[in-house]
Amino acid sequence: MNHRVTRNFQSLRLSLGSACDLACSYCVAPKEVRPQAGELKPKDLARLANLLHRVLGLKKIRFTGGEPLLGNRLERLIEALGPLDGVERSLTTNGQLLKGKLKILHRAGIQRLNVSLDSLNPRAFTRLTQGGELKKTLQGIDAALDQGFKLKLNMIPQKGINQNEVGALLNYALGRGMELRYIELMRMGHLRKEAIFSKLFYGQAEILRALKKDFLIRPLNREWAATATRYEVVQRGFFGMIANESAPFCRDCDRLRLSPRGELVGCLSSEKSFSLVPLLGLSDLAALAALPELLKQALAEKREQRFTGSGLWMKEVGG
Ligand code: SAM
Repeated sequence: MNHRVTRNFQSLRLSLGSACDLACSYCVAPKEVRPQAGELKPKDLARLANLLHRVLGLKKIRFTGGEPLLGNRLERLIEALGPLDGVERSLTTNGQLLKGKLKILHRAGIQRLNVSLDSLNPRAFTRLTQGGELKKTLQGIDAALDQGFKLKLNMIPQKGINQNEVGALLNYALGRGMELRYIELMRMGHLRKEAIFSKLFYGQAEILRALKKDFLIRPLNREWAATATRYEVVQRGFFGMIANESAPFCRDCDRLRLSPRGELVGCLSSEKSFSLVPLLGLSDLAALAALPELLKQALAEKREQRFTGSGLWMKEVGG
């Protein structure tokens, strides 16, 4: 069966802006804390998200970036977004500003947070993030847990950088009732070059081999359209494995990205994006009429088999 006809986008990643207060080595080279040229105002991104919801009937929306907690873009976006009935809201953050933003997140109906945490060693954390403070992220995590938020942690193990911490991070997450997700490094942006990528790549097989030395684990069935395969750590909790390279999940991927420049990105393997900016000059009725064709084109970019790598940067399209 041809998935392009049968499947649709259900899950939107909305990038508030490419600006980030960190510059994680896998994500981007330079740190840039101001929005880049051409990025839309939050109210325009909100209008586009609303239009997308009216056409697609989204199930999930994840706010991301760049760093979505930087400045007040999230506050302005949420105010303009309105209720978006039936859509589960979540957010991905590096956690540096998390503690001070919890009230806003709560008010915005965002209960699920993914926090990027690649090391528990303060010096390694600062090196890897090019300037981040481990303490701030850990304090953000503790405060969010105290206030009842549901958290997952994202770790990208890399050879020679933090692969020796896969067990420590799992212990940390299990000890606080959180699910850790190991994300295989993706060939994006500067990592598209095979020589750089293969030097750093530390994949599912190696991660599982390392974990099996210290943990009793068993795989669970992967849910439809889920990025992660989940594992149980017997009697202790769960973790997930997002194995873009080793076990691609492209076939049932239902994710759509809206970049800060108002572009639709249907697939991370494709650098072809579809600008929704012209829709901002139209009435709702005219914009809703134009949107399905653009969505069809974005959907046609989806790969059926595997992520093939691209020159896109997560920071720019929304991680
Ligand atoms: N600033 C936020 C943060 O740090 O979580 C949100 C944006 S960041 C781009 C979101 C996610 O992108 C991170 O959790 C990271 O795992 C992922 N990411 C960025 N570059 C990646 C790469 N080359 N391979 C795999 N994941 C990547």
